[in-house]
Parts: sequence; C-alpha cells; structure tokens
Amino acid sequence: MSRSALGLVVGLAAVLAAFGTRQTHDGAKSIAIVGVTVVNPERDAAHAAMPDSTVVISGDRIIAVGPRASTKIPDGAARIDGHGRWLIPGMIDGHVHFFQSGNLYTRPDGADFNAVVPYAQEVARNKARLPATFKVWLASGVTSVIDVGGPFWNFDVRDAAAKSDAAPRVQVAGPLISMVDRKALELDDPPIIKIESPQAARDLVARELARKPDFIKVWFIHLPGTDLAAQEAIVKAAADAAHAAHVRLAVHATELDTAKAALRAGADYLVHSVFEEPVDDEFIALMRRNHAILCPTLFVPNGYRLMYSNRWQATPDEQRLADPQVLAMMHDLDKIPPDKIPPRVAKAMADRQPIKPPTVAEQNLRKLWDAGIPIDMGTDAGNVGTLHGPSVFREMALMRDAGLTPLEVLRTTTTNGALAMGRTDLGAIAPGKLADLVLLDADPLADVGNFSHAERVIKGGVVYDPKALIDSIR
Ligand SMILES: [Zn+2]
Repeated sequence: MSRSALGLVVGLAAVLAAFGTRQTHDGAKSIAIVGVTVVNPERDAAHAAMPDSTVVISGDRIIAVGPRASTKIPDGAARIDGHGRWLIPGMIDGHVHFFQSGNLYTRPDGADFNAVVPYAQEVARNKARLPATFKVWLASGVTSVIDVGGPFWNFDVRDAAAKSDAAPRVQVAGPLISMVDRKALELDDPPIIKIESPQAARDLVARELARKPDFIKVWFIHLPGTDLAAQEAIVKAAADAAHAAHVRLAVHATELDTAKAALRAGADYLVHSVFEEPVDDEFIALMRRNHAILCPTLFVPNGYRLMYSNRWQATPDEQRLADPQVLAMMHDLDKIPPDKIPPRVAKAMADRQPIKPPTVAEQNLRKLWDAGIPIDMGTDAGNVGTLHGPSVFREMALMRDAGLTPLEVLRTTTTNGALAMGRTDLGAIAPGKLADLVLLDADPLADVGNFSHAERVIKGGVVYDPKALIDSIR
C-alpha cells in the first residue's frame, strides 16, 4: 500500500468513527478533503477541474473551496487525503419509483407472475426493504432521488428517508393521474389511478396536495381511438391545480403528439424522451416556453426486454452495488416452471428478439442538448430490469453513446438534477451548498465509467463507505 493510500485509510478511519452518524449535523466538527481535484460540472471543459484543492465541510455544509496552499483548515478538522482523487457533487436520479424493485414480480400489469410471487407480497417486501434500498442509492454515489409517482405511502417514504441515518434526499409525487387503469396494481393504495374528467383530476390533485407533494404526476398513455383533446384537457386541469399550489407537473409522455399535448397543457418536467420519432422545432419551442426539463430515461425499455427474454445480466457495478436480495431474484426465469411463465414472457424467451439501442431517443437527446434544453439524468429505477442504485451507470453510458461528453453527462446528473429538484443548495461544490459529495479514485472527465468508482460518499456532511453500506444489507 502506498503512503498516500495508507494516509487515506488512517484519516478515514477517524472520520468514519467520528462522523458515521447524524451527529455531524450539530456542526461542532469539520472535515477537510485535502489536495483533491474538484470537478465543477457547471463550468466549461477548460475550467471544470481544479487540481490540488481543499474542500472544508462544517456540519452539513461546504464552507470553503480553494487551492490547497491557501485554504485554511480549521483546528480539529478530520482530514481526508484527496491526492490522486476527484470530488464531484452528489449525483441525482431524477426518475425512480420506490414501490417497485426491478424484479419480475414488480409490474404484474406488464407480465403477471402472481402464481409465483403474489404482487401484494412483492409490494410488502419493497416497503419493508426501504432501508436497504436507501443504502444502495447512497453506495452508488446518488445522494438525491425524485420518486415521480407511486401509492400514497410514497409520502411516508419521503419521511422515512429524512429520518434515516443512511438515505438519499427524496422528493416524491403521489399516485399517477392516468389515462388508463392498471387493475393488476390495485391493492389498497393504488399507484396509478384512471381519471376520466378534468374535475376528477382536480379532485385527485387536491387529495395529493394535502400531503405536500414535490410534483404532481400524469401518466399520459394515449391509446388508438381515444380523444387526445379530451385527454389534454385532463392534463391541463391537473397542471392548473398543481401550479395554483406552486407544485410542478411531471408527465410521462413518450410519443411526440402526447409530449406536445402535455407541454401545451403546462408540463414542467417530462420524465421520458420521445422514443419513436424525432423531436421537432414545435416541441423545442414548447419546452422553452414552459422552461421545462427533460429526463431522457433511455435504458428502461430495454430493461424489460432483457428481463422478459431472460437475457438480463448484472453489470460489474450492479454485482457490487445493487441490493443483493434483489440481485438474487433476477434470474428466477431459470427455475420458474414453464406452466407458470406468462405467455408474453414465454414468447420473448423463445423469440430472443435483438435488443437494439434507443437510437431515436439518443438522437433526440443530442438535439435537445444542443438546443440548450435542460436535460437531467434519470433511470426509472424499480421497473423490471432497472435496479435501484447502480442502474445510473447504465443510463449514463447511454447518454455518452448519444454523444454527450463525460462532463456533459455529469452536468445532467448534478447541476441539472438540482434544477429538476428546484434546489439551489445542491448539485455544486461551493461554499454554502449542502455537503453532498462523491470522492472518486478515477477521473470522471476521462470516462463516464469512472462515475462508479466511489471511495467515499458524503451526504449532508456524513461520510459513508460504499462497501460498508452494501455489507450492512447482506
Ligand atoms: Zn417512471
């Protein structure tokens, strides 16, 4: 072991001992990360990296950032050796769902495996497993997530995260205001509620506003033969009711005509890209008019395809950082008796259709980025084949494939993630910001693959060891 590596270990042992709990929040002690390369995602490529810097944290905030030679370290500060390491803001996933796990049983409306694992049992497991799910997010370097829709108990998830010793910051939406029903998901507290009139939309928004949602969410599924104008009126009623309460509207709309209708109705946040056709000037103009943010969510459709054809394979990041309990279920199709495999899945397993990259959505991402539309990173984690935590690395690799540089991808998941959350105290490394940080042992500006190299994750001034977080949930 090199001297600097040994120094890091010794320094961190002290830091973790002193700061392993929420006790740091009393602000009595400080932490200095010394000699690190600070990466500022909001800056241009020539000015993003600041080598040999020192970052000082007091309580849950960053209080100083500057050259190592001239940045004063408070007496008694715990020191973390930053030499040969990079510091990025804590990452933000702008699109997750805590009521889902990513396994086969989590969306019986997609393929019904109730004969293998009853859906009620799966949802109860997800609820009970929340402390572990929170930890996989932190272990992956993700210090904030937006849950854009689920049952009313989503609001309890936000409360649980806020009280937890090891959890990301969580924003939530409640049940989806939907154009279609999903009977298979209707337990006592449905995540998706079919709404058939503007008044019904206003009524559901009012029920959700009572729980102080961060977003109201619309699931805009336009089936052939249904009335798009009538649906747009429902979205507008939801948008107007949300906006009257200063809450923003998030919309799932993956076709160009529904996405435009959503924007005309007042959408602030599109949680998917348009997947099947190129976006046009009218779409871009509507995005600009609304100051809307777009989360491309590129991987999730292929997650379903890989799982239902039994070809899903964990990446090395997922093997290391995903919830081991969920990972152990990802190949259950190997052992489920054929008579219990739903027809859709049996067909997918037999056909083994080629898995194609989301080319059109990637082209749309590049076009929107070049047009200056704010893009944030999100996975739709919890959907079948998209795991909480390390699926961010699959998503960011696809954003790279779309033509974004590592710095641009980093900006989507920090600067623009904070924008999506409406938070000015997150997403940057500067005095006054919350101390949500990731210490990497590889250069994030060289390769998006290096984003998964977290040695330490810091949230609100509390230092976490990713490996210890995962070991604690085995
Ligand atoms: Zn979603």
